[in-house]
Amino acid sequence: MKVLVLNSGSSSIKYELRDPDTGTALAAGEIGRIGEAGGLPDHGSALGSVLRALRAEAGGPLADLSEVDAVGHRVVHGGSHFTGPALLTPDVIRRIEECAPLAPLHNPPALLGIREALKVLPAIPQVAVFDTAFHATIPAEAHVYALPYEYHERYGVRRYGFHGISLQSVTRKADATLGGGLAEMKAVVAHLGNGASITALAGGRSVDTSMGLTPLEGLVMGTRPGDVDPGALLYMMRELGLDAAQMDQVLNKESGLLGLSGASNDMRDILEAATAGDERAGLALDVYCYRLRKYIGAYAAALGGLDLLVFTAGVGENSPAVRAKVCEGLGFLGIELDGEANTRACGADADIAAVGADVRVLVVATDEERVIAEETVAVVARSR
Ligand code: ADP
Repeated sequence: MKVLVLNSGSSSIKYELRDPDTGTALAAGEIGRIGEAGGLPDHGSALGSVLRALRAEAGGPLADLSEVDAVGHRVVHGGSHFTGPALLTPDVIRRIEECAPLAPLHNPPALLGIREALKVLPAIPQVAVFDTAFHATIPAEAHVYALPYEYHERYGVRRYGFHGISLQSVTRKADATLGGGLAEMKAVVAHLGNGASITALAGGRSVDTSMGLTPLEGLVMGTRPGDVDPGALLYMMRELGLDAAQMDQVLNKESGLLGLSGASNDMRDILEAATAGDERAGLALDVYCYRLRKYIGAYAAALGGLDLLVFTAGVGENSPAVRAKVCEGLGFLGIELDGEANTRACGADADIAAVGADVRVLVVATDEERVIAEETVAVVARSR
C-alpha cells in the first residue's frame, strides 16, 4: 500500500509517501517558502510540485498517481468534536473549519492543503488525523480551566492538548523497547521539539498534558513562553499598549529560548552559547530545564507515582545535556540516569536509566508520519 502523508503549514508542505505495511518511507520532502519571495505562490502550486516530485519522471517512486491508495492529512486542532481520525467529507471539513479559530496558525493552512488535495486527487480517499485526539481521555479536573463555566460550556475554552500523533508513536515504541508493560505504568512523555509539551499517561492513556486550548501553555519552547501569569499579559496589553495581534506575535514568535537568549530558538545554539559563557543563553537553558523538571514532579504527583519517563523529538532525542540537566535532583522520584547510556543515546530508541533505578528512562525517536499513514489506512478500511 502507498499512503501520501501531508503536513500543510502556513508557508510549507511537508510530505512523505509511506508504505504502512512495512513502515517504510518511499519518498519524503518539503516544499517551503509558499507565498514568499522566491517561493511558489500558493498551496495549490506547492501540492502540484509535491505530486510531480513523486512521479517516476522526476525520479520518484510512482509510475502513476493512481498508485496512491489514500492521503492522510495532519490537522493540529480537532476541538471537542474529533476524538479520533476522520474520513474527509464535506461535513468533516466544515467541522475542521469550525475549529480554525482555536488554532489560527495551524488549521487554516491544513485546510488549504486538504482542499487542494481533494481537488487534484478526487478519487482517492483522504483522512484527517488530529493532534488533539489522543488527549480526549483527559478527565475534567485536568482539562477544565477555573474560568466562569460558561466559557467552557458554550465556547469550548478548555485544555485540548497537542502532540497526540507523536504520543501515539512514542507510546507504542516505548512499549516495544520495554518488552511490554506500558499499559500498567505511570508514565510521563516529554516531547521537546520547536514546540514542546509534556504528558502524563496512566495505562497508556493521556490523563494530563501541558499544552492547553492552544499550543502556548506549559513548557518553554523555541519561540513560545509556555506558562505565564495571565495577569502579566493583561499588564502588557493595558500598560504597554500591545493589542491582541502584537501579543500573538510576542507569544508565538518572540518568546521562549529566542526571547530569553536574544539570539536563537535552536537548542543547539543555546547549548553552545551557554557553554561559552553567554549569560542569557545560560538563563534560557536554566528556565527551560527547571520548567520541565517542575512538570515531571507535578505529573508524578498527579499520577501518584512514576514508572517511566520518555524523551522524544528534536531536543529530547538528541541532547544528552538537556536530559541530564532536567533529571538532576530527581533522584527522590527514582529517576537516575546512566551517564554513559545517556551520552550514547541519539536517534535510536534506548533505555538510559541507571541499573537498578526505580524509573525507566527512555529516549524514543518519534515517527508521526507512520502513525498518520496507519490511521489513514484503518479509517479507509472501516469506511468500506
Ligand atoms: P519540530 O517541532 O519543528 O518538529 P524537532 O522535533 O525537529 O522540531 O525539534 C527541533 C529542535 O530540536 C530544535 O530546537 C533543535 O535545536 C533541536 N535539536 C536538534 N538536534 C539537536 C541536538 N543535537 N542537540 C540539541 N538540540 C537539538
